[in-house]
Amino acid sequence: MPIDVTALVEQARAGQPLAVARLISLVEEASPHLRSIVTALAPLTGRARVLGLTGPPGVGKSTATSALITALRARGQRIGVLAIDPSSPFSGGALLGDRIRMHDHATDPDVFIRSMATRGQLGGLALATPQAVRVLDAAGYDVILIETVGVGQSEVDIVSLADTTLVLLAPGLGDGIQAAKAGILEIADIFVVNKSDRPGADQTARDLTHMISLGRKEITGPRWRPPVISTIAATHTGIDDLVSAIDTHHAWLTTHAELDARRTHRAAAEIEALALATLRSRLTETNTLPNLAEQVAAGDLDPYTAADHLINP
Ligand code: GDP
Repeated sequence: MPIDVTALVEQARAGQPLAVARLISLVEEASPHLRSIVTALAPLTGRARVLGLTGPPGVGKSTATSALITALRARGQRIGVLAIDPSSPFSGGALLGDRIRMHDHATDPDVFIRSMATRGQLGGLALATPQAVRVLDAAGYDVILIETVGVGQSEVDIVSLADTTLVLLAPGLGDGIQAAKAGILEIADIFVVNKSDRPGADQTARDLTHMISLGRKEITGPRWRPPVISTIAATHTGIDDLVSAIDTHHAWLTTHAELDARRTHRAAAEIEALALATLRSRLTETNTLPNLAEQVAAGDLDPYTAADHLINP
């Protein structure tokens, strides 16, 4: 089926959700049109604020996402959400009913929610997520919220796409602070202690504040001290404080030229993912690698020269 990329991009810019969804699908399946899509989108991007939201399963990420959407919509902002589950084989909305409290926003044309997952495709999410952010940015969403599930390296990578990263924890979740220690601490711009209606919430907030006061390692550039915000996402309590903290962080990024630094970092990740994808397809789609391997195995070629040849044929 022929695809008119220019028309699709125009429709997405005009706010047509079907065109936005179609573009994200094309990006996700690494369509042959990916290059022309990204080229068409590039001049239209750079306006949206990108928020990352991560934390262990069950802390209330999707509840908080829904509450945040409500708060941001109340001030007239259009919101795009990418719910990312690196461990799930489902994508394209299959998990929406579960993951996000969709019914709250299902009829709002200014909210676009999409789940993404590409199990089995090495580097798939690293490739697709920044391009999906571009689609939403070009389509005029003011805030793009990237929600990642689970604890591990993947969400650290994906969240590094964000201007502002929120790390959600909850009291009584023993591994919450552990997770923070395991690396999430370094990426958090704002900590959220959700489920503050539960016992132990104050202690969790105090523990976090103490940890932050000990200082974060490997900080370069100007220093931002992450605030700890207590919320009860289920009742929207504390969400206004959270929105204020997000705004304060954004203002800080702007005054310290950190916003540009983060966006340059994001661009670098994008270029790397695209370059690696090209190299990977060269490995699998041509006979270059098997041919080189035979020569190296036969002693006719050294592996360094073979690797050079693979990169610069
Ligand atoms: P996620 O896995 O991190 O996305 O967590 P969910 O948003 O699906 O929430 C997990 C469970 O915690 C759900 O049953 C929510 O209703 C509940 N929940 C979310 N926020 C709160 C809160 O602030 N207080 C309490 N008591 N429960 C909450």
